[in-house]
Amino acid sequence: MATIFTKIIKGEIPCYKVAEDDDYFAFLDINPVQKGHVLVVPKIEEDYIFRLDDETLSGLMVFAKKVALAIEKAVSCTRVAVAVIGMEVPHVHIHLIPIQKESDLNFAQKKEFEAGEMAKTAKAIAEQL
Ligand code: AMP
Repeated sequence: MATIFTKIIKGEIPCYKVAEDDDYFAFLDINPVQKGHVLVVPKIEEDYIFRLDDETLSGLMVFAKKVALAIEKAVSCTRVAVAVIGMEVPHVHIHLIPIQKESDLNFAQKKEFEAGEMAKTAKAIAEQL
């Protein structure tokens, strides 16, 4: 069965899309740790990042870098933090989270934003790409 992220990539489930190319896709995390929290995923379905083939893994990181630089421009932050957890969704994803300080990266404390604010944030990041 397709993963929830594959359904998002195919447009079967809505998302706040940020970027896409032939092999990768980026969209806002629906339960963000901070405003501008983006997930970057490969289009191929693989559960665990370290089982990706080298080409897909390196391409994923290069794609994530482009998105992170766009996040930096669109959202006020000192850094874009990078995290890979993967305990919830069995489809490789890199979390990109704009932070001001280390304590901003707390996965136990999610933030809520109105749909309009989420759409605005996704558009602002996409416009920097
Ligand atoms: P983890 O697998 O532990 O890295 O966490 C999965 C992440 O995916 C969580 O931060 C969720 O908020 C996020 N997530 C799950 N479903 C969706 C969705 N439909 N759209 C956007 N983000 C999602």
